[in-house]
Amino acid sequence: MENLRQHSWSDGAKPHEILQDGQVILHHRCLKCGRDFAKEEGDEFWRAAHVGLLKIEFLREDVNEQWIGEGCPGEMLASDQTKWTSRNGRTPGVAGKNSQSVG
Ligand SMILES: [Zn+2]
Repeated sequence: MENLRQHSWSDGAKPHEILQDGQVILHHRCLKCGRDFAKEEGDEFWRAAHVGLLKIEFLREDVNEQWIGEGCPGEMLASDQTKWTSRNGRTPGVAGKNSQSVG
């Protein structure tokens, strides 16, 4: 994913590893735009995500496509905040692969 390389990951090339509901979730946050991206261990592609107090959630598909497709905006966008509140994407881990087909 070339567009993702435009971001400045806070952890460099190595993503954060978070254990959530028994599932290892890899997480990157961009220092410039503050967007979060996550994927389950073994997944091929990163997805747009929101890191809440307790857990990481994947964002809706339209948000995901925008974030993956446009690269780094270089600054935090106010419009990103509203995307978090309207999220209804799947949550990695227990609520993930078995309960919903994504694709
Ligand atoms: Zn960025």
